[in-house]
Amino acid sequence: MKHSFFGGVHPAGQKESTRRKPIARLDPQPQRVIIPLCTGSLGGAEPLVRPGDPVKVGQPLARGTDGGVGVHASVSGRVAALEVRPHPWGGSLPAFVVDNDGQNEPWNDCPSPLHLDEITQSLLLERTQWAGVAGMGGGAFPTAQKLEQAAGHIDTLIVNAAECEPYVTADHRLLLERSDHILQGAQVIAQCLGAKRTVVVTEGDKLNAVEAVERRLRKRGVQMELCTVGTRYPLGAERQIVQTVTGRETPADRTALDMNCLVLNVATVFAIQDALFRGRALTHRAVTVTGGAVARPRNLWVPIGTPLRCLLECCGGLREPPELILTGGPMMGIPQNSLEAPVVKNTNALICLTKWERRGQRPETTCIRCGKCVAACPMHLSPIFIAQALRQNRTNRLPALHPQDCIQCGCCSYICPAGIPLIELVRQAGELLEKGGTA
Ligand code: SF4
Ligand code: SF4
Repeated sequence: MKHSFFGGVHPAGQKESTRRKPIARLDPQPQRVIIPLCTGSLGGAEPLVRPGDPVKVGQPLARGTDGGVGVHASVSGRVAALEVRPHPWGGSLPAFVVDNDGQNEPWNDCPSPLHLDEITQSLLLERTQWAGVAGMGGGAFPTAQKLEQAAGHIDTLIVNAAECEPYVTADHRLLLERSDHILQGAQVIAQCLGAKRTVVVTEGDKLNAVEAVERRLRKRGVQMELCTVGTRYPLGAERQIVQTVTGRETPADRTALDMNCLVLNVATVFAIQDALFRGRALTHRAVTVTGGAVARPRNLWVPIGTPLRCLLECCGGLREPPELILTGGPMMGIPQNSLEAPVVKNTNALICLTKWERRGQRPETTCIRCGKCVAACPMHLSPIFIAQALRQNRTNRLPALHPQDCIQCGCCSYICPAGIPLIELVRQAGELLEKGGTA
């Protein structure tokens, strides 16, 4: 097993309650789904249906504009409204409210499934764009755009199944249960984009998934590598995974594509495979519902747009009041104020943490100059100096400390024995620099 990026931390995995649980269908199905018009991190979307229109599963509700991704109905029924609703990324945004008729009727005009030998680069891009695929591991970057930028420029395709965030096991289960589909998807993407090397990266603690992939690789006889890495956070971050696989260190102002690598999350690869070989749009995804406050933690296969409340209902509800509710993992997840916010394309987990799970949170004391935050920062920053410069109003020091290079991984805050909110302070310093607010 490899370990080859700088810094990082080893938070407790906390995956035991869901790692052995197969992805189960959400039951009962939601009575209505809330599908935000915007589910990608770029561009916009233009509505294609209006309130009152009947819709079927897979029918486009909006088409992406300015490089954005479209959205599709994840249930059949009727559009009840297009109105502002809570969004899991924060705030409220326009969303389709679709009343579910419970019939799950598929849309008849979905494109037909393709055969392996007829898939070309243009068909791959076209189908990925049609299916509304966006990065499902966190960033929600429009995938068709990413594939287009990578075409002919990459030598390595990395399928990211590292899932280094504590608690989350949705990608682990997907890799274990759908390894054949994922390997087929990766093979086609690599062929179409001209990648010479394809590497599936996972952590060494996912032994059953590693065995499943090894078995499939032997059976398929394809040129593909499986890279098993020692568990360390943030291995799943793009720069760190590129360095682990290729040894290439991505400068702060460059991306993985500049290093001739394309990194796709394992769920994104599965969604592309589904669009190519089954003609299906991205309408469902795997979500881990867990945390000490959840009665029966599980992995669920969920229609996009399902309110978070319905996921909890399917897991037996709450057994005690949660101290914190998050979508995503505890290191980089987004705190949620409302359980009415829906699952979107990059929601990999719903985590309800109890008070006892958060007791590691320390009250802030004075820095003891231990240097742990510097040793843990995978971007080679000095979080303590950035924090001091900001708090002491010595903002003229900030440009030399490069707070804008922070990837918001949270390692510094996690490791700090003085409980200093370093990630917040580094974020504030980066924003200040971007606004040109140095003295
Ligand atoms: S400064 Fe940013 S990149 Fe470095 S450890 Fe803290 S959050 Fe992560
Ligand atoms: S980890 Fe915390 S206590 Fe240690 S040097 Fe950094 S800010 Fe100071």
